[in-house]
Amino acid sequence: MMNDQCVSFNLDNNIFRGRIVRLDHVMNEILTHHKYPDNVAAAVAETSALGVLLADLMKFNGIFTLQMQGDGPISVLVADVTSEGKVRACAKFDEEKMHAAQVLRKTEGELESTPHWLGHGSLVFTIDQGKNTDLYQGIVDLQGKNLEECALRYFKYSEQIDTHLHLYLQKDGDVWKSAGILIQKMPTKGGLEHEITENPEELWNENKILMDSLQKSEIFNTALPLEDILFRLFHEHQVRIVKHTDYHFGCRCSREKLINTLSAMGEKDIDDMIENGKITATCQFCGQVYAFDKSELVKH
Ligand SMILES: [Zn+2]
Repeated sequence: MMNDQCVSFNLDNNIFRGRIVRLDHVMNEILTHHKYPDNVAAAVAETSALGVLLADLMKFNGIFTLQMQGDGPISVLVADVTSEGKVRACAKFDEEKMHAAQVLRKTEGELESTPHWLGHGSLVFTIDQGKNTDLYQGIVDLQGKNLEECALRYFKYSEQIDTHLHLYLQKDGDVWKSAGILIQKMPTKGGLEHEITENPEELWNENKILMDSLQKSEIFNTALPLEDILFRLFHEHQVRIVKHTDYHFGCRCSREKLINTLSAMGEKDIDDMIENGKITATCQFCGQVYAFDKSELVKH
């Protein structure tokens, strides 16, 4: 059974669209490359589920990146998703700041929300479709009591699309899983779709209530295919499955890319990085260690 999947669906004769995602092995692979404390692992898992949901909604050919940055104990969270279904994610955090924040709030052992750990900052996403194309970018302040609220602000203020979103996390032993579901009103072409439906608001409210009834135990039940969950929830709303997309862990780092990045530094900075005759760099996503000779990075 494929458990790293996003299913795209429509409801009520296509006046609403949605996505449901479950990340199982992907999450485990992303997190085994790092030794994150629980709250960082949780934030990375949540960011990955949101990243896949958003990427799956967009039509693009290239790389979708969801990035959040803030002044809190976690300073950066990144998840990127390619149009071929490769997902990778990582975090930057300050252990001392994190400890201080936990002591201050006396909540050690509890998982607080992702925006709480990030502090003041922003949620940005970009779509990079390669050379000679414009970089598409969306940005919104990190405001809200949880990551769902932050993402909903983006849809409300930037896209002006009514959206309903839930994200889920589960930890079994050391293994994390994440999942999410969203529904939204289909962007209308001249309002035609809404006119032919008598009560779109009523249908929208019904669908939101049905979506709210989804239990964490259901979405993480790997014996239950995602489309079965959708039929259980929305069988009275003409749920139609549009497509399934499989996702897997994949890093895009390479020796060549790192040579390009490191070569852009000055010779003095490169000299400062030499240890035992080599310059080493570790990929922040997959942990792969690369070692270079100075002559590979400094061309005369
Ligand atoms: Zn890598």
